[in-house]
Amino acid sequence: MDIRLHNTLTREKQVFSPQNPQRVTMYVCGPTVYSYAHIGNARPPVAFDVLFRLLRARYGAENVVYAANITDVDDKIIAAAAETSVPIAEITAKFERIYKEDLAALGVMEPTFRPHATEHIDGMIEIIKTLVAKGHAYPGKDGVLFDVLSMADYGKLSGRNRDDMIAGARVEVDAGKKDPADFALWKAAKPGEPKEARWESPWGEGRPGWHIECSAMAKAVLGETIDIHAGGLDLIFPHHENEIAQSECAHGAPMARYWLHNGFLSMDSEKMSKSLGNVKLIHDLLKHYDGETMRFALLTGHYRQPLDWTEALLDQSKATLDRLYNALRRMKDVLADYVEAPNAVTAALCDDLNTPLALAELSALATEANKAEPEHWARIKGQILAAGRLLGILQRDPEEWARGDAGDAKRIDDLVSARVDARQSKNFAEADRIRKALAAEGVEIMDGPQGSTWRRV
Ligand code: AMP
Ligand code: ZN
Repeated sequence: MDIRLHNTLTREKQVFSPQNPQRVTMYVCGPTVYSYAHIGNARPPVAFDVLFRLLRARYGAENVVYAANITDVDDKIIAAAAETSVPIAEITAKFERIYKEDLAALGVMEPTFRPHATEHIDGMIEIIKTLVAKGHAYPGKDGVLFDVLSMADYGKLSGRNRDDMIAGARVEVDAGKKDPADFALWKAAKPGEPKEARWESPWGEGRPGWHIECSAMAKAVLGETIDIHAGGLDLIFPHHENEIAQSECAHGAPMARYWLHNGFLSMDSEKMSKSLGNVKLIHDLLKHYDGETMRFALLTGHYRQPLDWTEALLDQSKATLDRLYNALRRMKDVLADYVEAPNAVTAALCDDLNTPLALAELSALATEANKAEPEHWARIKGQILAAGRLLGILQRDPEEWARGDAGDAKRIDDLVSARVDARQSKNFAEADRIRKALAAEGVEIMDGPQGSTWRRV
């Protein structure tokens, strides 16, 4: 069965064929770690986690190499550090940890590589040097700029016309630009900027532009031409267009063979985004919903389509998962056959990651399980579990799911931490209030030398 993927570059669904089936490479642009991620930010990692699982099943787990970066140097990080007087490294380490915890709760597997921008500054400088030497880049007033007119097919990914490109590029430094669409590769340090955010370079102290980070990290961990490069729709221009420009002009080879982009998660039909202020943080949602329910909700939409995030969607997702786990629970005493995912589920995912269809096929299996004689249970249970593995769901103990306390555990953890904080700040009344409130729910707090834990009594 062929895997077909919609390629933004060719604007069509194409049969996926890797350069080397023993080393299938994919790269997904990662977060800038200076604050909590919202559930829209989870759409690329969750959607492309399903692709990672599908590729591992097809080519062998050890033959798929997946990199997702962490952007740990950026104007917004510098601003956050200046505002809070917290050192940059502390901010980025904290939000990277929270990001990974959030994704783990959503059932996202850790990628093979998690490169950090600050660990690849030398690689970025090397690419910029090559671009300058080849006449694709030049020093401007505030750093080094990429010369878009030096690349004949600049703009091929987004297909934007020049006016749109100029409008998109205007947000970057424009001092000393030869062409208004030229963009920054290297940004000279400004007076007063912290030491941790500046590096020596042939063009003076400064820091890399955002786009060059991914060009350098993708090359360092995956190679000059990778199979799949993915991210959200908003990254097509300028981010991915500029990654292509840098990598292809420096290396003389295609940067990626398949470009995949997910559509937006919305609220009341408006893109969920920090600048609009209509965001639901993963961190907060996890206090009320199980991560698996949230993952299921994200997968109910096709990754290229917009998806509206509503309470009804979450309730419906929870109800469907309840039904699937109930089918597994009825079959709990039967040992599952070790089988592959059913053809219908695999076929759906091979068709440009059609997760809504795959979930519908999974529900059909639960219906079959509910009607089947016990002699068929081992096979059906095996099929449900294998389909669940591909989609990253249904791997928990169905009894645990039925108790329904998985989402609640996070809320209780938070209350226990709040009590520890209250005690540390000698607010004993508040600490006592939390202890009593939890006791009323049948949760006992146990204080020990390692900190506080809890159990249900
Ligand atoms: P940002 O925080 O805007 O830099 O976004 C980080 C990642 O999340 C990028 O890959 C974006 O394309 C993606 N993203 C941001 N907002 C949304 C959204 N509402 N729906 C889907 N993806 C999003
Ligand atoms: Zn990128």
